[in-house]
Amino acid sequence: MRLLNPRHQADQWAGVIRSGTAILAFSVGVWTTHFIGMLAFRPDMPVSFDVPLCVLSLLLSIAGTALAYAIRPRTPDEKAATIASGLVLAAGIGAMHFVGMRSLIVPGVVHYDPDLVVASLCLGGLCSIAGISLMTRGATVWASVLLALAVASTHFVAMGSVTLELLGRMDVTPLATPRSYLVLAAAGACFLILFMTITASALDRHFSSRLATEARRFRALADATFEGLIFEQDGQIVDANRAMCELAGIDAASMIGRPLSDLIPGLELRSTERESPVEYDMRLPDGQTLSVETLWRSGADSGERVVAIRDISRQKAAERRIERMVRYDPLTGLANRELFEQQLHRALALSDRSAVGVALLYVDLDRFESVNEALGHHATSQILIQTARRLAGTVRETDTVARIGRDEFVIIQSLTEQSTGAAALADRIVSEMALPFSVDDQSVVVTASVGVALYPADGAVPRDLIKNAALAVRQAKHDGRGRWRYFEMGMELLLRTKRSLEHDLRVALKENQLSLNYQPFVDTATLEVVGYEALLRWDHPERGRIPPADFIPIAEECGLIVPIGSWVLTTACAETVSWAQKPIISVNLSPAQFLQPGIVATVADVLKQTGLPPKRLELEITEGTLMADTQNALRILTSLKALGVKLSMDDFGTGYSSLSYLRKFPFDKIKIDRSFVSDLEDDSEAETIVQAIIAMSRSLRLDVTAEGVETKQQLSMLRALGCNFVQGYLLGRPRSAAQLEHQAAKPRWHIIDHDGPRLVTTPAVRSA
Ligand code: C2E
Ligand code: CA
Ligand code: CA
Repeated sequence: MRLLNPRHQADQWAGVIRSGTAILAFSVGVWTTHFIGMLAFRPDMPVSFDVPLCVLSLLLSIAGTALAYAIRPRTPDEKAATIASGLVLAAGIGAMHFVGMRSLIVPGVVHYDPDLVVASLCLGGLCSIAGISLMTRGATVWASVLLALAVASTHFVAMGSVTLELLGRMDVTPLATPRSYLVLAAAGACFLILFMTITASALDRHFSSRLATEARRFRALADATFEGLIFEQDGQIVDANRAMCELAGIDAASMIGRPLSDLIPGLELRSTERESPVEYDMRLPDGQTLSVETLWRSGADSGERVVAIRDISRQKAAERRIERMVRYDPLTGLANRELFEQQLHRALALSDRSAVGVALLYVDLDRFESVNEALGHHATSQILIQTARRLAGTVRETDTVARIGRDEFVIIQSLTEQSTGAAALADRIVSEMALPFSVDDQSVVVTASVGVALYPADGAVPRDLIKNAALAVRQAKHDGRGRWRYFEMGMELLLRTKRSLEHDLRVALKENQLSLNYQPFVDTATLEVVGYEALLRWDHPERGRIPPADFIPIAEECGLIVPIGSWVLTTACAETVSWAQKPIISVNLSPAQFLQPGIVATVADVLKQTGLPPKRLELEITEGTLMADTQNALRILTSLKALGVKLSMDDFGTGYSSLSYLRKFPFDKIKIDRSFVSDLEDDSEAETIVQAIIAMSRSLRLDVTAEGVETKQQLSMLRALGCNFVQGYLLGRPRSAAQLEHQAAKPRWHIIDHDGPRLVTTPAVRSA
């Protein structure tokens, strides 16, 4: 029974040997049971056996057993096979018995009781069927008992049916053998059975332990791999290794028997093996999915397949991260240049097909360099992030916002009504960007300029479109920043001029093409000169004199304003320190220069180097400068003030004019912008404004200078309004130091005040 129900499947030959041994052992067993039983039968008469019939009975036993084995059932459900096999087995036993009985040679006749013969056959049949049925169920012990019972009952019940009638005559055949030989044969057969079964058992044990070791080793191997392994048959999970259970988050027991498609939806195992991995999403118990890659192999036989599953989620995440890095700006999360260019190509192609226009808006932060210098890296990053958020907030979902440079952003806007849409968006961006940013509890104003290029009018290919939008933004900056411009033909030429100016300006600084003019400002009441404003002049070797309004914005843009500014400061102080009248010298500070970290030290240095007393130096600062970063501005102004220099707010009324600035900052003076003065005569509103400014300054104890006084009328109006100082062509044009010296003693102006004409000599200079 153990040979027929091995614990492990061996290879084919081992199987044949084993089942052959089992068949022989059983049938020889049946035979020896019979003949040993016969030996126990000792009638008082000579007994011998017919050898050929003995052999035939053995062969019948073997044949019956073999046939029963051949038609044996494989599963407990095969009832017909169970019955057929049992009956064949019983028939074999019966045939063996009765032929064996026929081999008995006695001096008489053997009679059978038919009832007991039938009973013996029936009992044998029933026990065989039961035994075989138990065997298929794996109950080997009970199967053995029942099969033994089948053999024993057949033999001994059948023997019970025998009656011997003595006739005193014995038909001795030539091949008869006496009992003693039969004893030898039976003993031999017993030894044979023992030998065979022991040998086969030993072999089987050897095989099965080897197989068990192998199976354990395979299990360990499967469990040791990092990859999940699933054994699959007909779409069902048959087994899974440890890595697979960990991967899927379920134990093997609950995985086995489930359809594989439960775990990996869509996984299609085709009959061909998959050598290159395929990616799938595996379903996890918590409802999430895991990216996996699968490979499969069919097993050697039996239709099982091995599916190898590897977790590639980390790899996928890395891929996504790289993808992001390649296509998105890490600081703001906006598309980067790469992605922007792709999107632009796509937008233009789409526009060609659908006749929907595209606008490219180029957004550039104003004076970003100086903001960066003043506030540092962290704050600028904050500003950039907030800018990105504002821009993204102004566009529709179909538009793309990208960051393509440090402080350069672009927007691809698809339009149905081209220009109005772009103009509205540009307007919105400019006004959104004019709102203060909040950075570390400070509010900072960083405006933006915008250039707009339309497709296809302003460029048929992405490159041209980008270039022209960039030109337009430069023009917007040139026009005064914080505004937007459409691209126009001719901008490029202008820009080229600008670029060459930038180059020339570097040379100018090195080669002393710069000089200073001084324009007096006088006491309104006495018309005595109180001081001079230093104004920068550039004599270009080819183009002649270039007005500061043309080159100072360029210098500011490219950062040259810092060295130029300190040159102005040093030169102004050095040139005027020895002037006998000791006038105040007023120097303009550009925003970039003012916000530069070393400005206080620079001013202190210049004063020390040139020996100009601090009280003779006045610094002119525009309102816009203060807006950029009020905290920082206040700190700088306070430090400058501590040096003893005077501070004056230039161009008052043009910028963000805010009284709060005047109150907050330690200014000594404000300069009313030229535009108000020129409007004084024919615009009563201008007069009201100037009046208000003067009244306010007085309450804050600030001096007021009116700039750009060109007419006597303006002068007398300002005098009437109570303005302390005036400056303008009427009182003196800007002149070089040499010219001023030359004119020093000559009578110059005929100033006619409201009391009538009066001759005034060259303004007496009131000492500071
Ligand atoms: P600003 O500071 O407002 O300087 C006054 C400007 O008005 C000067 O122009 C001056 O020549 C002009 N001006 C004076 N009186 C009259 C007048 O009665 N009528 C008219 N129409 N104009 C008058 P300028 O020299 O061309 O300077 C223009 C601007 O350039 C200055 O405006 C100032 O913002 C800037 N600038 C000049 N020199 C420097 C400098 O050394 N550093 C910096 N950062 N900026 C400078
Ligand atoms: Ca000025
Ligand atoms: Ca001014």
